[in-house]
Parts: sequence; structure tokens; C-alpha cells
Amino acid sequence: MKQIVILGSTGSIGTSTLDIIAKFPDKFRAVGLTAGTNVEKLEEQIRTFSPAAVAMADDAAAERLRARCKGLKTTILSGTDGLRQVATAPDADLVISAIVGGAGLVPTLAAITAGKFIALANKEPMVMAGRLMQDEARKHGVRIFPVDSEHSALFQSMEGHRVEDILRLILTASGGPLWNLTKEELRRVTVEQALKHPNWKMGDKITIDSATLMNKGLEVVEAHWLFDIPASKIEVVVHRESIIHSLVEYQDRSVIAQLGLPDMRTPIAYAMNYPARVPLDLPSLNLAQIGTLTFFNPDHDRFPCLGFGYEALQVGGTMPAVLNAANEVAVQAFLDRRIGFLGIAETIRRTMDAHKPVEVSALEDALGADAWARAKAGEIVESLAAAAVR
Ligand code: NAD
Ligand code: MG
Repeated sequence: MKQIVILGSTGSIGTSTLDIIAKFPDKFRAVGLTAGTNVEKLEEQIRTFSPAAVAMADDAAAERLRARCKGLKTTILSGTDGLRQVATAPDADLVISAIVGGAGLVPTLAAITAGKFIALANKEPMVMAGRLMQDEARKHGVRIFPVDSEHSALFQSMEGHRVEDILRLILTASGGPLWNLTKEELRRVTVEQALKHPNWKMGDKITIDSATLMNKGLEVVEAHWLFDIPASKIEVVVHRESIIHSLVEYQDRSVIAQLGLPDMRTPIAYAMNYPARVPLDLPSLNLAQIGTLTFFNPDHDRFPCLGFGYEALQVGGTMPAVLNAANEVAVQAFLDRRIGFLGIAETIRRTMDAHKPVEVSALEDALGADAWARAKAGEIVESLAAAAVR
């Protein structure tokens, strides 16, 4: 029986993980759950899964949850300390890291330091502090299993192969809902249009990241740290159907890929039960029915955010953390309808241009750069919003 903690249990990845736990009660038990502010959903999860402890990032939300869960055995904690406590629970074997954004860094790193194996969906901490996370993982004998579908595909395509034989990692990108729009059309894109992902149903933040291709930029950085492969050997190809989840080319020019219909339960379950596979009741891939798979080069003019990922990785130090924080601020401002779609890339560009990177030798360096970039990006958003009403 594997004892599981889910950081971000009320989100898209979190609920898919609980789906798998519910289907295999003899294999997995949810011992700890955490959420940001969604009291109703966490209450429902407490009543279904009876975890020993839960934590809510928001103190007031935790207070409301306590009032609704009187008489239940689950301990309800709150704030950063509460999240950290659940992430490091002594009986936990595996922590599913599925908070959205940089907010996941502190609890995920705490879990690693406590020696917990990690199933990593939350890519932003890897972008902010990849070296630190990997150093801690090595120090504490921790394995980090990728959940992100592309990285799970790379991981699966590398199994049984030698790292020194790898020529290239090829990440696939769906291109998102706006792939076919012109720059002029992109300028006027609405939040609703940007949230309509063609292949995946995910949280709002990553859905916007898919529309800007920032998600792929973050994933290039994530792949670099997960697999210790230089950026020069990581490529991206747009593959509209999201059937091939990523590929690895070896020096004999053999290319190994992992395929499947787009459903996150497949990579989640693989990370949870590695190396064994569990039977999932999902539709089979029918290639003849799909008929055609299409591929394109990314368009850096219309979608500059992918290039920002490569650039941040090349500059190194605190630059990836700054890229990530600026993106989080800009995406939120777009979702709040304060800036336009192209304002996201502009905010990131201007924040990165203003940054003087330093090394990330401790958690504080990453958190400091994150705070600086949030303030800077906030100012840029204000100026863009003001210009828009003028
Ligand atoms: P989501 O918005 O659906 O869920 C986010 C979860 O994090 C929720 O439980 C929420 O309560 C919690 N949360 C939000 N802000 C928080 C904060 N400040 N402190 C503590 N908890 C907080 O997001 P998602 O789509 O499930 O994505 C989660 C992560 O997984 C992201 O990093 C995303 O990039 C990655 N990912 C998601 C998918 C997908 O299919 N959804 C695929 C690949 C990778
Ligand atoms: Mg992905």
C-alpha cells in the first residue's frame, strides 16, 4: 500500500490523481491533501478519502473548512507551515506535486528534503530552482517522477537506454487554441478564446500558458533539469493532435516516442506506480480513425514565449525564476482582463530585460528573484493597463 500526499488536490491534476486512488484502494491511500481556497471541494474529498491531515494555503478558508468538518478525524492545518507539515507527513511515501505556480516550491522542496519521492506535475518550481531541487533530491536519495505528459513520454522513451547515446529530446506542443491566428488577431483575443484548449482540459493558468506557448518554454527548462540534458539538445515540434507525447532521438538515428490519447491519468498513474502499470479504463488509441498526424515548426514571431524559456535557461541563475514570476503576474492580469493577450509576452520581455541575474545557491535566491519579478511585472502590467484605457 502506497501512502500518498497530494499538494493541490482540488485542481485538475489533483482530482485526476484522486480518481486513480479511488479505483485502486488496495494500492494507494490518500493520507494528506492540500488546497488553496476551495473549501467545498476539499470538504468533499475529506469525506470521501478520510485523509489523516489536510492543509489550506488560506487561513480564513481553513477556518471555514474546520467549521464544516466538525466531528471528523482529519486534522486541518493552514498557511505555509500547514502545507509543509502535510508535505512531510511521516507516513507518506509519495508526494504528488500539483499546486499551480511558484507557490508549490516551498512545500515540494520540503517534501524532497524530508526524503519523500515526488510525482511532479507542478513544473514552475523546477523552472525557479531546478538545480536546487535536483541537488536536494540527490542528497536525500529522492526520485522525482515526471507527471507532465511530455516529460513522462521522454522518461518512458529513455528507459533501458543510455543517456550518453541521446542526440535530442523532442518535445511536442499542441500549439494551443490560437495556433492559426495572425498577429493582428492575437492582439484582440478574448479570455474565452484563449481558454478553449483543443485537446486537454486543465487549470486556467496552464491553459493560457499553452495558448502563448509559454508552457512549452517552461517545459524546456523542466526537461533540462529533470533529465540533465543541455538546452542545445532539446527541441520543440508543434503536433496539433497531441497523440505523440514526446520523442527521444539516439545516435544511431533511432527515434523512440510514447503515444496515447490525451488523458493525464496515464502519466499520473505511471508516476504513482512506477515501474508497474495499472489497468486504466480509458479508450484505446485508434490510429486509423485519427488518420493524420501533423507537425510544424514553432513560430517564434507570433509566439515569442517559447524562446524566452530557452533564453532564460541560457542566461541561467535567477533568470528562469524571473521569467516564471513575470509570466504568472501577466497571465493573471490577462485573466482579469487588465491586459491583452500580447501584453503577456511584453510583460515577460520587459521584466527579463530589467533583471540582473545572480546565482541560485539557496532557496532565498529563487524566492528573492520571484518577489522582485512579481513587483516589476506588476508595474509593467499597470502601465499597459493604463495605456489601454487612454
Ligand atoms: P489547477 O488550477 O486546476 O489546480 C491548482 C491546485 O493548486 C488547486 O488544488 C489549488 O487549490 C492549489 N493552489 C492554487 N494556488 C495555491 C497557492 N497559492 N497555495 C497553495 N495551493 C494553491 O491547476 P492544474 O491544471 O491541476 O495544474 C497544476 C500543476 O500541474 C501546474 O503547475 C501545471 O502546469 C501542471 N500540469 C498540469 C496539467 C493538467 O493537465 N492540468 C498537465 C501538465 C502539467
Ligand atoms: Mg505538458
